Amino acid sequence: MRSLILLLISAFTAGYVAGAPSTGTVPPKLTAPAALLPISSATSLLVVSPHPDDESLCCSGAILRVLKAGGRVSIVWLTSGDGSELDLLVVEKSLFIRPGKLRDLAMRRMEESREAASILGVSPDHLYFLGYPDRGILSIITDNYITPYRSKFTDATAVPYAAALSPGHPYTGQNLERDFESVLDRVHPTLVLAPSPRDSHPDHRATGVVAIRAMARRNELSKMRYWMVHGGELWPMPRGYEPDLELNPPPLGHGLSQTPFKLEPDEEQRKRLAISAYRTQMEVMSSFLLSFVRTNELYSINPMPGH
Ligand SMILES: [Zn+2]
Repeated sequence: MRSLILLLISAFTAGYVAGAPSTGTVPPKLTAPAALLPISSATSLLVVSPHPDDESLCCSGAILRVLKAGGRVSIVWLTSGDGSELDLLVVEKSLFIRPGKLRDLAMRRMEESREAASILGVSPDHLYFLGYPDRGILSIITDNYITPYRSKFTDATAVPYAAALSPGHPYTGQNLERDFESVLDRVHPTLVLAPSPRDSHPDHRATGVVAIRAMARRNELSKMRYWMVHGGELWPMPRGYEPDLELNPPPLGHGLSQTPFKLEPDEEQRKRLAISAYRTQMEVMSSFLLSFVRTNELYSINPMPGH
């Protein structure tokens, strides 16, 4: 069933990106200048993050560069990271999943997001938490597009967080899309950095699809660029803090013409500080998180190969 849904989403995504600029016949080095759109004081960047921490892992360098140019940066988190049993075990020292505990964990992760955003210089007024369920985004945009989804982690069937954009919104695909559209209406992005639907994490793939569908409805797909965090087994290699090394393209990025966005040393240091603000995540997987502090970030023009 799951593989069928993924197949459908792949086909669905492919249909929506057919009009995106093609790099299929262009040699990779000629595509490099187009990796990100030109950055200036007129840039309004929206980073689309499935979980608290993804925005810092993928895009700290781009965020810092846009702010340095005098542009505006906004971040939207689709989930608040309330679905991790591992986190609960390590951070809360508890083997039992209690809905309240995971909601508390989500509150801590949202606070860490605010701290990370502040380290990067993003205004608190430009942070949007949608509060949809961790591990539930793919179901929400497919099986639960109309009928509310119940999180097996928090037992919630509606957005439970007061700090979210629309507290009490039932967990449906329709509502998620409505909330996402409302963020686009407020931000008017000129550049959207979203997860590639090729990422191996279902929340990431589904988040990419939500962003692609919304931007396609506005005929603004050309403003999108894509990144990966879960790019295949053992990526990034080597694991750990190695700030002098390049971030090499991930195995799942094959065919995407990912191009490097070079970071200055001070940008790398700021990125390390932002990632380190996620104390709950650093306790669980610091070497994975810190392996994103490299001399470059990677962005692709196309979400899927062959378009
Ligand atoms: Zn994530």
